[in-house]
Amino acid sequence: MKNDSDKITKKVKKINKIKDQLAQLRAKLKASEDQQTSFSSKPKFKKIKAKTQQSKNENLEARVEKKKAKVQKKKKEKEEKKKQARMIAEKKKAKVQKKKKAKEEKKKQARMIAEKKKAKVQKKKEAKKKEEDLKRTYEEELEEQLTEEEITGFQLEKIDMDRMCNKVCEIIAGYETQGTLQSELWKKLKLSSRDGSRLALKLERMGMITREKILEKERWTYKLIIKKIPISTKSIEGGPCLTCPVVTRCSLDGEISPRTCQWIEDWVMIELKNK
Ligand code: SF4
Repeated sequence: MKNDSDKITKKVKKINKIKDQLAQLRAKLKASEDQQTSFSSKPKFKKIKAKTQQSKNENLEARVEKKKAKVQKKKKEKEEKKKQARMIAEKKKAKVQKKKKAKEEKKKQARMIAEKKKAKVQKKKEAKKKEEDLKRTYEEELEEQLTEEEITGFQLEKIDMDRMCNKVCEIIAGYETQGTLQSELWKKLKLSSRDGSRLALKLERMGMITREKILEKERWTYKLIIKKIPISTKSIEGGPCLTCPVVTRCSLDGEISPRTCQWIEDWVMIELKNK
């Protein structure tokens, strides 16, 4: 009986001990929870935490601002650089444009001078041509159109050309070295200016006359001057040679010669007296 009571007492004791231990654990747990609660709800800590956070935020904002300003500055610098480059490029462009314009102006001036020069030369040329055209005579045109054979072989219809040539030369010879205007001569001989001009060319080619180009009453014409006096049959009519008995032995360098012939001398003297 006593043993049973001891056992029960022991058990009760053990249970109480466990109960105490549990109570202690509960108390500890509670204390821990309280401590935790009290720790987190402390206003000072909150304030510090808030302050730290604010500082952190401010630092972050400052950093962001700084970065932003840096970026802004960089952007501004870049823009300024671009602006400077643009200005330099524009200045360069303007300089090139100015140079180009000056070059073009120079070219224009040179072109204008060249054109003026060309026009002057052209004008001079035209004036010269005009002058030459005015100076150009019908005879010159004929000389261009006709062949030498056509000039020297010129014939007037139904007219003895030898006699005509002699007649013309005799008339011209009458004017001696002064010569005469061809137009006046053709009037005297009642020849057209076309025929007269061709006759003058023929006589010139024959070596009988010379033609001198002159300006008469604002027109270019020719003065005809004798070059070689033709032999006229009239001039030897009555000469002693025609009936001379020693004509066959007479020569310029011979013993009988016109240089020493008395008959010739007498005839010439008579002729001179008659003139
Ligand atoms: S020059 Fe005298 S010599 Fe001779 S042929 Fe005449 S006339 Fe006769």
